[in-house]
Amino acid sequence: MRILIVGSGIGGMTLAALLKQRGLQATLIERAANFDHAGYMLGLWPLGYRVLHGLGLYDQFAAASIECKHYEVRDNHGTLVKNWSMQPIADRFGPNLSCTRPQLVKLLHSSLGETDLRFNTTLESIHQAGEEVDVTFNDGTRETFDLVVGADGLHSKVRSLVFGEQPYYHTNWGGWVWWVDVNAVPKETFVEHWGAGRFFGIYPTCDGAGIYAGAPVEGDFAEPGPGRRDRIRAQFASMGELVDTCLAALPDDSEDLFFWKLSDVRAKEWTRGRVVLLGDAAAGFLPTAGIGASMAMESAAVLADELSRTNNPFLEHALSLYVKRRKHRVESTQNDSRHLAKMMFIKSATVAHIRDVATKFYSLEQLASSIAKAFDEPI
Ligand SMILES: Cc1cc2nc3c(=O)[nH]c(=O)nc-3n(C[C@H](O)[C@H](O)[C@H](O)COP(=O)(O)OP(=O)(O)OC[C@H]3O[C@@H](n4cnc5c(N)ncnc54)[C@H](O)[C@@H]3O)c2cc1C
Repeated sequence: MRILIVGSGIGGMTLAALLKQRGLQATLIERAANFDHAGYMLGLWPLGYRVLHGLGLYDQFAAASIECKHYEVRDNHGTLVKNWSMQPIADRFGPNLSCTRPQLVKLLHSSLGETDLRFNTTLESIHQAGEEVDVTFNDGTRETFDLVVGADGLHSKVRSLVFGEQPYYHTNWGGWVWWVDVNAVPKETFVEHWGAGRFFGIYPTCDGAGIYAGAPVEGDFAEPGPGRRDRIRAQFASMGELVDTCLAALPDDSEDLFFWKLSDVRAKEWTRGRVVLLGDAAAGFLPTAGIGASMAMESAAVLADELSRTNNPFLEHALSLYVKRRKHRVESTQNDSRHLAKMMFIKSATVAHIRDVATKFYSLEQLASSIAKAFDEPI
């Protein structure tokens, strides 16, 4: 089976590694020049990283990760609202492990050996005829495949070429991402400040703590260039000592910073003919529940499973089974992420205060009920 995977991120690389293990070789393309791009932090649940056991990569992954033992929410001025222990989940299913995206992608890559992986490569067109898919790449060359997997993320080109425009969900919030020394922050705790008109998250990994500083995308908050550092510091002033420490480490205005607009997308269809969507391309995730990467890995495992149980004449049936096994589960967890966004991203100080009082009474399972259920359901 000639398989093209478009996008060598979390989902695409997991799929390639699992297919290789099952004797199916894929061609991978990646728009970026290397794996060092998109160097942000990832908290992974066992839902997703369980596949690393089967790939023989788990021990390496765990050794390079930090276990997040607590999830802490603070208010607009840094006062503790709630500290949840992750221990009950860790005891039953496995710990929440935090790493960087390049760490995980490179680890998956290490299991691929001599795989056809092409950087700086994207696609310009896709045409399906009968049982074949013709793809034109950005260098003008054309190749024919039996299957094309769109694993090219939230703004998937495969999705727009084959399925057209799909409904986006916009929070109208966005935020800056940067790194601070992990020794300057609590090492085994995800700390989030759910403010009024602002949100400040601190996520430790072995390579430093990733910061996400979010607010409504209005005025000049999202503007890069001169004055950026001062604007960010002003926006997140008086959120407490921990936030001040992180703001002190803000990179200079001349350095590139990643600004992430918080939107997600939900494709109506995941497969058409011999093209199938995987990961964020099928259902993109807000970061609020920290579940998008886990879902992409889980979906990759199911797709690899279905592909290893079929042959070319029955490929489309295998793809339909993949969708049946995944769509509902993925969209349910996506709903949790949207629900959390509504709690976290509140502008009004009065509503934020009511939220803070209510949050004290929430359990983790109530905060993200579909994700809690997913731990104990087969895929
Ligand atoms: C700042 C931040 C923090 C996050 N934190 C968490 C977290 O803590 N926990 C969690 O589970 N999830 C988190 N996520 C979400 C998670 O990263 C995604 O859900 C996950 O990476 C989805 O995997 P994917 O393979 O679908 O897409 P990606 O990992 O985004 O991979 C897509 C790949 O396709 C490539 N690509 C894009 N377009 C093309 C094209 N046209 N041609 C070729 N290649 C292309 C991209 O360069 C990329 O390498 C976070 C995301 C961000 C941005």
